[in-house]
Amino acid sequence: MTRWRYAAATDIGLVRQGNQDAVYADDTLAVIADGMGGHAAGEVAAAMTIDMVRDGFHRSQSVEGLVEAIQGANDAVLRDARSTPAHFGMGTTVIAVGLTYDFQGVVSPTLVHVGDSRAYQLRDGALRQLSEDHSVAEEWVRMGRLTPEEAAVHPRRHQLTRGVGVEDTIAIDVASINAVAGDRILLCSDGLSNELDADTLARLASAPNGLELATEQLVSAAKVAGGRDNISVILLEFDEVNVAAAPLRRTMTSAPPVAAATKTKARRQRRRLVSWRASLAVLLFLGVVAGAVAIVRWYAYSTFYLANDAGHVAVYQGQPQGVLWFHPLLRVTTQYSAVHLRPVDKRALAATIQEPTLKAALTYAGYLNMEWLAGSTTTTTTTGVTTTTATKG
Ligand code: MN
Repeated sequence: MTRWRYAAATDIGLVRQGNQDAVYADDTLAVIADGMGGHAAGEVAAAMTIDMVRDGFHRSQSVEGLVEAIQGANDAVLRDARSTPAHFGMGTTVIAVGLTYDFQGVVSPTLVHVGDSRAYQLRDGALRQLSEDHSVAEEWVRMGRLTPEEAAVHPRRHQLTRGVGVEDTIAIDVASINAVAGDRILLCSDGLSNELDADTLARLASAPNGLELATEQLVSAAKVAGGRDNISVILLEFDEVNVAAAPLRRTMTSAPPVAAATKTKARRQRRRLVSWRASLAVLLFLGVVAGAVAIVRWYAYSTFYLANDAGHVAVYQGQPQGVLWFHPLLRVTTQYSAVHLRPVDKRALAATIQEPTLKAALTYAGYLNMEWLAGSTTTTTTTGVTTTTATKG
């Protein structure tokens, strides 16, 4: 078993007009949310998040239950911020420890967090920070751009890089807590960690006179130090504690909301169907055009004719006037003179003599030549001649 005792406190501090922090603790769950947003919207975001995490975790007391609860809070805060103008831009941090069941039925503490609220583990008076702040300055420290000392006074130390209600997807840090009986966990908002240094935190949070007193002393010390922000503290102390069968330390990023994902998928499928149909239509159209061109081309070059090519009888392939862009092609220029043909044959040549094949056209050209050589006026019809102008008189 894992069991803890707990104490929680939240305080408006000395400067702020309202308390936008929210805290919740019970036997299995501890949560702090530090809300942000004008006109008390931060309070709304923090309260919504605490409710969602509490309800979600109690429905499913597991790592998945915790993560899904925070994702649910993120969706709820975003939805509210988009539908209520006064809540525009609101958001919150969230940090929680839950006693989660794993697949072996072992119950152990799991930390989840987004933002710059913090978790520390205390053992024998020593303090260790478990969470990494999701703030610009602290991210820069991890990147080596700032020293921790520079980050502590950096103007962007309050600017969050992650939060609940900021974007549709949320990256949640998840870590198993490896603890022994007697260890304490301190959860706090930045109103505490900004006012007190690590040594003071360690000393006050480890104070032996009970958790209630320790939380009160932490809050008081933060106020003495300035109390410039809302101050929230939860102290947990393990009486018994198990370690997770498969300890986790990872960042879990939520998928986009299911509805949006389905819509996108459907749209993508529709788009694919549309483009498939369009492609088919284009293919069909191109096929029809290509077919039409082939037929025209076949018609255009389906015949041969004789003509005078610079004084010689020549055979052209094609329709004498051409068809569209398919102009007649000169196939053969014979040695037969076109100049010395009989007048009737000259007229026939001018009117064009068509033949179905190249061979028939050449045969006819030879016939014309023989007619000229023979000087004959015999009227004959050669075999294979099918032209309309083949009648000799
Ligand atoms: Mn704060």
